[in-house]
Amino acid sequence: MAKRVMLIGAGGVAGVAAAKMAQNPDVFGELLIASRTKARCDAIKADIESRPWFAGKGATTKITTAQIDAMDVAATTAMIKEFRPDLVMNIALPYQDLAIMDACLAAGVSYLDTANYEPPEEAHFEYSWQWAYRERFEKAGLTAILGCGFDPGVTQVFSAYAQKHYFDTIETLDILDCNGGDHGYPFATNFNPEINIREVAAKGSYWVDDPKDDKPEVAVENKKAFDKGWWVETAPMAIKRVYNFDQVGEKDMYLLHHEELESLGCNLKGIKRIRFFMTFGQSYLTHLKCLENVGMTRIDPIDFKGQKIIPIEFLKALLPDPASLGPRTKGKTNIGCIFHGLKDGKPVDYYVYNVCDHQECYAEVGSQAISYTTGVPAMIGAKMFLEGRWTAKGVHTCEEFDPDPFMDALNSQGLPWKESFNPVKVD
Ligand code: NDP
Repeated sequence: MAKRVMLIGAGGVAGVAAAKMAQNPDVFGELLIASRTKARCDAIKADIESRPWFAGKGATTKITTAQIDAMDVAATTAMIKEFRPDLVMNIALPYQDLAIMDACLAAGVSYLDTANYEPPEEAHFEYSWQWAYRERFEKAGLTAILGCGFDPGVTQVFSAYAQKHYFDTIETLDILDCNGGDHGYPFATNFNPEINIREVAAKGSYWVDDPKDDKPEVAVENKKAFDKGWWVETAPMAIKRVYNFDQVGEKDMYLLHHEELESLGCNLKGIKRIRFFMTFGQSYLTHLKCLENVGMTRIDPIDFKGQKIIPIEFLKALLPDPASLGPRTKGKTNIGCIFHGLKDGKPVDYYVYNVCDHQECYAEVGSQAISYTTGVPAMIGAKMFLEGRWTAKGVHTCEEFDPDPFMDALNSQGLPWKESFNPVKVD
């Protein structure tokens, strides 16, 4: 029976998730899109309802919209209680995660998001804040699915799939995130500029089970990870590799800290090292360095003409809205995971990845591929929950659930994956 979902947020990713829900009206019967700016919710609704695939199959998703400041727990709780959804999807910003989790607990409804909590005053994210809700969700008989985008999200489903089907133990994992798209601007970010810049300007780090066995190539600091293992920290962008990506070509990629490393360090059997690399063009890096050097990426308030402003928030106002990049962006993304480990005592290499075309995404739902590759998995995660496949109570990351139905849905919902047992590895 079709279910009811309340979606919070109305940016690039939320627009794709809503569109993909409306392509599955048998699962998503009613959708409330609620965000800080109601006009953006209305624009998403109008766009979906004008698409040729909407109403093409008889049943349609009933879409309504509302204004909400999700930091206001009481107001969000009241809205959830009134709409009575089967699931609340938080596709606003990571700053809202805890407030929305509180509202879900108060209203007795399950929760899903696409990025883990980050306090606004500190450019730092880890699972500890949300893992602290485990017992409360369990006791309430509710499910919270964390980080259900592509990375985090699909990268963890890929990991669970590799572990289930091809390995007894996985020793190393490299996650490679390549955006070979070009939007034609000298500098723009493909998702929320503030979150994006905070992520790439932070120190790099990778996860190891034992820092004594690691041979770091740059100056590092070892820090105990929150739950298990160690972080090897590097200066921002200190580790660079070149990789030849299927259907994209050769790109420079840099080691970044990334949230799924922490949960995968806890959940992959035998894992010794996990790294995350993302591609960046020279123009992006040069602009970023310059913005950093002049203080435009600062997250602390400064005085300007008698007013307090936060430079990175001001910068966000100047940069193109990621949701507007769709018509301009050409090229493909290629995101995947390279595993090395053992099966029946024999070494195995395995690479699983998705290639996604910016222009094809635009033609289908009016977005570029970064929003698409995040919004589609968010919809699939919701589908898994609503169909009773991903329903473990408590607070969980995507590798903790059965990967098979999610992998099938990736193929049927627009993000088909490829695999190779003989990949070029990253040194
Ligand atoms: P956008 O900045 O485009 O959109 C964010 C939306 O959240 C806006 O509609 C904004 O409202 C709304 N919002 C912000 N604050 C509040 C609030 N207090 N109450 C209600 N709504 C609010 O972001 P994206 O769509 O690019 O990204 C959405 C999420 O997806 C982010 O958390 C991002 O980190 C995550 N993400 C995850 C990825 C993954 O692979 N896992 C990859 C890319 C993104 P307003 O319009 O008023 O500003």
